[in-house]
Amino acid sequence: MTAIIELDHLSKHYSPAIIGVDDISLSVGDGEFLTLLGPSGCGKSTLLRMIGGFEEPTAGTIRLAGQDVTALPPYRRAINMVFQDYALFPHMTVGRNVAYGLKLLGCSELEIRTRVYDALKLVGLYDKLKLYPHQLSGGQRQRIALARAIVRRPKVLLLDEPLSALDAKLREQMQTELKRLQEKVGITFIMVTHDQTEALVMSDQIVVMEKGRIAQKGTPQQLYDHPASIYVANFIGTTTFLPGAVEAADHATARIALGGGEIAANIDRPFARGERVTIGLRPEKIRILAEGETAPNVLKGRVSEVIYYGLGLRLGVTLADGSRIFADLLLPDTLARSQVPPVGLAVRLAVAPHNVFVFAEEEAT
Ligand code: ADP
Ligand code: MG
Repeated sequence: MTAIIELDHLSKHYSPAIIGVDDISLSVGDGEFLTLLGPSGCGKSTLLRMIGGFEEPTAGTIRLAGQDVTALPPYRRAINMVFQDYALFPHMTVGRNVAYGLKLLGCSELEIRTRVYDALKLVGLYDKLKLYPHQLSGGQRQRIALARAIVRRPKVLLLDEPLSALDAKLREQMQTELKRLQEKVGITFIMVTHDQTEALVMSDQIVVMEKGRIAQKGTPQQLYDHPASIYVANFIGTTTFLPGAVEAADHATARIALGGGEIAANIDRPFARGERVTIGLRPEKIRILAEGETAPNVLKGRVSEVIYYGLGLRLGVTLADGSRIFADLLLPDTLARSQVPPVGLAVRLAVAPHNVFVFAEEEAT
């Protein structure tokens, strides 16, 4: 895929002590939906603002479609930004809000009308042309802000937490809408969010950030199934971590001794015998064995907690050494109350070796 944005050793140090972005190199493919994901303060907005030209890097370069734009002001980059608060003009109608940027570009009256029509049609709000922002719902205002940003046909659209002002239900709906819109217009989207679900649902590529750096980049599935560190496994999805030690290992698998049992894991780098590690297990990848059922990779424990979460049950299971792991039990809608495992019940948990994450111990904390 051709790169539309290339960041080369990009940094923003606000002061010697305050590092916004620290030496990031990253390539964004043309037409891609890429998300910057991470906790508050990890540098997502700083990185986005530098790409848009609203923040000056302290080091490094930014290329857009092969051209060095590091020193160019925002309006000279074929990049547009949707701000969190939408920044619509309250005294202008929807139509004039969307047309505003085109007027500045000096487009003809006819061209403006056609392009505003196309943009509003795209977001499904052409009938709101003559209304004012305060007459619209939050979701509609969000869509107008999008229409206003894409009407100028930028190569890249930057979105900083674009859905955070919406309530949960609407946000979920807008996630798929925004994704569909992006596919339709074919513009590269770079979005910032701290919401892992949002990132998983919408993105082609996710960049997980940690303290101004890239912790891992990959597709949603790569990050979910192969987190590169405890930090990423902790941030995306739910993971139980347990300390362990490598008992035996070859190039592809390892046997790991835990305080409360022993487990086989697939590995993709060498581990030495005796090496201390941290393993990670996802609750939804653990199966509770029925009585008499056997499986190759089993941990034994007792149910110590039963949490109902709608889709199913999450069981806290305490192993022999007192450590606890979580295992999900999806509920068929006919599940009888008597089939819910009671606290204290002895259970066996099966997990496939490729669903056991193994991290070097020093990655912890
Ligand atoms: P995020 O968007 O991931 O929450 P930011 O990019 O806003 O993170 O901030 C990254 C770091 O840079 C934080 O420590 C933040 O306090 C600091 N920072 C952001 N903007 C400024 C600024 N204008 N001046 C000084 N420090 C800033
Ligand atoms: Mg931010």
